[in-house]
Amino acid sequence: MPKPIRFLNTLTRGVETLQPLEDDHVRIYTCGPTVYNFVHIGNLRTFLFEDVLRRTLEAFGYRVTQVMNLTDIDDKTIRGANAEGITLREFTDRYVAAFFADIDALGLERAEHYPRATEYVAQMAALVKRLTARGHTYELDGSTYFRIATFPGYGKLSGIDPERVMAGARVDADEYEKEDVRDFVLWKAAKEGEPFWETELGRGRPGWHLECSAMSMELLGETFDIHTGGVDNMFPHHENEIAQSEAASGRPFVVTWLHAEHLFVEGQKMAKSLGNFFTLRDLLERGHDPLAIRYLLISVPYRQKLNFTFDGLHAAEAAIERIGNTLRRLAHTPAATGEGSLAVADVDAFVTELDAGLADDLNTARALGAVHQLLTRVNQALDAGGIGAAARARLDAAFDRVSATLGIVPAQEKGAVDAEVDALIAERVAARKARDFARADAIRQQLAAMKIVLEDTPHGTVWRRE
Ligand SMILES: [Zn+2]
Repeated sequence: MPKPIRFLNTLTRGVETLQPLEDDHVRIYTCGPTVYNFVHIGNLRTFLFEDVLRRTLEAFGYRVTQVMNLTDIDDKTIRGANAEGITLREFTDRYVAAFFADIDALGLERAEHYPRATEYVAQMAALVKRLTARGHTYELDGSTYFRIATFPGYGKLSGIDPERVMAGARVDADEYEKEDVRDFVLWKAAKEGEPFWETELGRGRPGWHLECSAMSMELLGETFDIHTGGVDNMFPHHENEIAQSEAASGRPFVVTWLHAEHLFVEGQKMAKSLGNFFTLRDLLERGHDPLAIRYLLISVPYRQKLNFTFDGLHAAEAAIERIGNTLRRLAHTPAATGEGSLAVADVDAFVTELDAGLADDLNTARALGAVHQLLTRVNQALDAGGIGAAARARLDAAFDRVSATLGIVPAQEKGAVDAEVDALIAERVAARKARDFARADAIRQQLAAMKIVLEDTPHGTVWRRE
């Protein structure tokens, strides 16, 4: 039996315990990137929340099928390809590759499917035909529109008022003004300078909203468990997805909707004009640790606004260092005989609290608070009577769980540097035995220059990074 987990559902405004539609299988659709440039840290915040979601579900014993689409055909990708005089595919391939490089750098688990919109055009055309058969569309100048007035549930997700629809008012673009409720385009007639597909709807291309409905229903079924995205996609994008999908199938589209809040940078909305617009590459070029970036971007629960600051990033770097130092100290300190100063029950209480935080609508702040309390307990125990073998085994499992769910545990690689440090420490111990204190001090200074701090304990010499 998987562990219970609760979510605040945007659709019902209620906190609900997840009940998968099919046994322990959770089917998730996440709106992916539009591959026309590098994703920014606001996008990455949303993708990281979705990563913690899937990792937590897996750790809790569910089976996850996650679909994340790649929007490789829309106004922006066409504009970008035309500006460079290359094909749409050449243009979008570049940003698809960049997207995967970015999510790999941040340690995101791969979803099960990354469908590209251009590979599902047949399914999109079929969906429009179903909508037309049920009387939800009209055609004008070769384009097909969804008539919002034919779908009474319009507005149920975002709370937008469909009465504000101006009769006959349409929008052709993939993006339009906030709160501007209009009939939206499903299928766009071919235009000069735009790629088109030959379908039963005539020559044209899909509208952006249609892409997600067609790909999610194709890969996950007409009704599935969870749909996620950024809060800015709630209206009109997700509202339109519901209208298209439910009007076509006559069934509920999604049980649970989860929306990640906005990210601010140093208290301001991120904007290129303000010079506070960052991609992952920008931050890596400045020498920041991807693990710390990940830590910062998941540190605030996804339903709350996150203020990204460089002070916060430095604090996240310190937190990652603290985890690494504690693990290294633990690895270099022999086990205490007997129980030592950390009880098995204390480690178990930590795991309970970690899980309780995650089960509470992915409260990552609570989960990270528990991690820091544990680090304090471990360091105190190492300062006092050490840690016995049983508690150590439990600690290993506990850190594995932190790693599996939050993905913030640095790899304890026995790398070249560590091997060199160990060799120097062994040489220093030998020098001290031989009463060659000058040599022993020289080694300590050499290690200090490498930012390695030595501690001589009753169990021998341990080291940590400064
Ligand atoms: Zn979408």
